[in-house]
Amino acid sequence: MKFGGTSMAGTERIRRVARIVKRQQDAGHEVAVVVSAMAGETDRLVNFCREANPLYDPAEYDVVVASGEQVTSGLLAIALQALGANARSWLGWQLPIRTVEAHAKARIEEIDAEALIAEMQKGVIAVIPGFQGMSEDGRVTTLGRGGSDTSAVAVAAAVKADRCDIYTDVDGVYTTDPRIVAKARKLTNVTYEEMLELASVGAKVLQTRSVGLAMKEGVRVQVLSSFIDDDAPAADTIPGTMIVSDEELEGMDMERQLITGIAHDKNEAKITLTRVPDKPGAVANIFGPLAEAAINVDMIIQNVGRDKGETDVTFTVPAADLARSLDLLEAAKETIGFNRIIPDTNVAKISVVGVGMKSHAGVASTMFKALADRGVNIQAISTSEIKVSVLIEEDYTELAVRVLHTAYGLDAVEA
Ligand code: ASP
Ligand code: MG
Repeated sequence: MKFGGTSMAGTERIRRVARIVKRQQDAGHEVAVVVSAMAGETDRLVNFCREANPLYDPAEYDVVVASGEQVTSGLLAIALQALGANARSWLGWQLPIRTVEAHAKARIEEIDAEALIAEMQKGVIAVIPGFQGMSEDGRVTTLGRGGSDTSAVAVAAAVKADRCDIYTDVDGVYTTDPRIVAKARKLTNVTYEEMLELASVGAKVLQTRSVGLAMKEGVRVQVLSSFIDDDAPAADTIPGTMIVSDEELEGMDMERQLITGIAHDKNEAKITLTRVPDKPGAVANIFGPLAEAAINVDMIIQNVGRDKGETDVTFTVPAADLARSLDLLEAAKETIGFNRIIPDTNVAKISVVGVGMKSHAGVASTMFKALADRGVNIQAISTSEIKVSVLIEEDYTELAVRVLHTAYGLDAVEA
């Protein structure tokens, strides 16, 4: 069981979490719980580090920011004990959760779960702070923001859990953002692949890394709400959204929807280079410097060459990397040989995602037609086996999401 920051924000909420956990144990389960810091706490701690020195030592940053989860894990153990449960906390270095790579963005290598499993079998509820681990030389590490989801999946894999229930402030994964489309539906199931695409294109329910890990380790994950009454249906009845493998889904859901969900992402920026020479190596000259700077280029279009052997190249980068990208391209202007750089941050990427499209034609054309009918212009396109993305003017984001939600038959039917 994993509880996020809003679920752990304050004593009252921690007491409710304790009741939810105790209920699972009373139902006959052996339980390990992974917790986040109280909502807002990690931001507060990060700010202290920045105030102390903007060029802080990442190893000491980890010592500071890992403390948020230490507090909530201890408090949850206390609240569980108050309910008569046998509970104790295990900090990252105590298990230990062994991590590798840099401080502040460590990766879990291995979890020694032997002691944990033995205690769980004796009826002890294990409470584990998320987000933290221990480096090869015994120092505190953290996994990168949002890392508690990854901690939970890793612990679930280590103890070979039947299920990893991720309790959060929404009751599942939706076909699209319910704040934009009132008729968005909660999904009963979604595949790892779909969840990866949805997470990486802006549906922020789970940290993307945690989904990748769950897929690799075959951990069955449920996303569900912690804001429930004591008599709400138990987690075992799967009230939330299950994230499962493609094969498992095929077994239970014959009538697959073509499209599972629609995501939007306003954090992209578009760059157009005009009059680039239309010859071998030209594109390599553009993207080489960006790759070296670890800037992720997403959508790319190279227009048809003009008669003078020149062409325009358009692509997107994360908006946060726009300034750096422009610098790098200016610096490489001689080598690339373009005329002008035209940046544009007034864009949004809209993606339709679904494993169903693997075996169906016409998904993209439905998208293009639905947008055209509403006068929404498409500036760039990219596709994968289970995703079609288009770049549009940012002002049309909400309209586009709504129109597509209807076009693919995802709207909930009113009762
Ligand atoms: N507390 C950490 C953060 O805010 C980790 C997490 O909650 O997942 O990023
Ligand atoms: Mg989170």
